[in-house]
Parts: sequence; structure tokens; C-alpha cells
Amino acid sequence: GNFDRTPLIAGNWKMNMDHVQGITLLQKLAWTLSDAKHDYSRVEAAVFPPFTDLRGVQTLVQGDELDIAYGGQDLSQFDSGAYTGDISGQFLNKLGCKYVLVGHSERRTIHAESDEVLNAKVKAAYRHNVIPVLCVGEGLEIRQAGTHVQHTLDQLRADVEGLTAEQAAELVVAYEPVWAIGTGEVAGPEDAQEMCAAIRAELTELFDADVAAKVRLLYGGSVKASNAAAILKERDVDGVLVGGASLDPAEFANIVRFES
Ligand code: PGA
Repeated sequence: GNFDRTPLIAGNWKMNMDHVQGITLLQKLAWTLSDAKHDYSRVEAAVFPPFTDLRGVQTLVQGDELDIAYGGQDLSQFDSGAYTGDISGQFLNKLGCKYVLVGHSERRTIHAESDEVLNAKVKAAYRHNVIPVLCVGEGLEIRQAGTHVQHTLDQLRADVEGLTAEQAAELVVAYEPVWAIGTGEVAGPEDAQEMCAAIRAELTELFDADVAAKVRLLYGGSVKASNAAAILKERDVDGVLVGGASLDPAEFANIVRFES
């Protein structure tokens, strides 16, 4: 990564950890990170717990003044009203969420979220001052066909359509090849770099070079402490989005500290 951009180490808990387990995990993580030997002040750590954990997370983070950001795993494209089961960006903002994941591959697949809906969700996040962590990436068949860059940039273009340059500069984009999620199959650091460089070039086209230089690009897919440091060394990779390994506080803390 380029250290003009603050690296973001993000933990996506997915549908794991109820609100009691979530507090325990966050306390362990905070305790591990508070080890005075380490200076992680130049790195930002964030967790993405299930919605039902967020109130408890807010209380703990505020009460103990933890230097850990948090966010929701999804939000509604709408602000309020007759949308049973949905969560508004307004509610996330009120709970102190700095970020929200948008377009994780599990949402795209299981909930059939289209790029049109995801574009509306990205805009909803900005309406409520929550920073979207937009997830993009290709499945195995597309990777094998060799059209992964095209596919991922198509998603990006559709999902950020209509944003102002000011909004785009705040965006975080996570490149997550679907074939590497939860499979133990990690894209190599050079694969992560290839796509992140392509995403940054596309952002230059869509907005301008200043915007592109500010956007943080994460890699996600089977990231562990043992492979994170090499990925984070790549020039255009500014962080990682960690699923499974973020449920182990010692492992996640090591990723935050760039330690294997
Ligand atoms: P994984 O998940 O680290 O368990 O592969 C990453 C993600 O889906 O965000």
C-alpha cells in the first residue's frame, strides 16, 4: 500500500456472533490491540457485526473509547417507510456506524442485488453520512474465461454512477474474487494488485486522478495473518476485508499489526 492512504483492516463477521458473543469478541480484540508494544495508529481497524450487535458495539466503543470503527453489513436503498426487514442508513448513522458494506457477493448472490439497487444503496449511504465499502469481484467462471477485469470494472462503473467527485473520494472499494471467499483459495498479491490498479485507473477515468489517489482499495478473500502482509505491500492495495479470520481476535489483531 501507499501510506498516504490510511490502511483499513476490516473484519466482516457475516452472520456470526450474537450480541453477547459480539461484545466478548470486540473486548478481546481491543485488549489484544491495546498491547503498548505496538503502534497501529497509522492503521484503521473496523468491524462489521450483524445488525443486532451494533447497539452493544456502540456502547462498548464509546464507553471504553476504543479506537475501532464499525459498520453495518448492508443497508436499505430507502430511508424509511414500508420496507419490512430492511435497515435504513439513517439508523446506522445514529448508531455511530462510520461504514457500511454494500454489494458483498453474498448479497449479490443470495439476495439477487443488482448493480442498479447497489448504486441506490451507495447513494443512500452518502445521504446518511455513512461511508460505503463497495464490494466488487468476479466468480470462478469469469476468472477462468479471463474477463475478470472487465467484469469487475463493469460492476464498479454501475455502482458508483452519479456520485460527485467529493463523494467518490471518500469511497472504499473492496475487490473480492468470489472464488477466493471462504475457500482458502487466496488470490496472489499480484492478482490483488492487478485488479486494484485497474480499479484506480477506472476511477481516474470516471472522476479524476485526485479522487482516484484518495480512494482506499481493499482485497478480500481468505485473508489470514500469514498472507495479509504480502498483500498489503502491493502498491494499490490499501487494506483487507477479512471474513473468517476476523472471528479470531488474536488472528485479526495480527493482521491489523501487519504481523504473521
Ligand atoms: P473470507 O471472507 O475471509 O472468509 O474469505 C471474506 C469476505 O467475504 O468478506
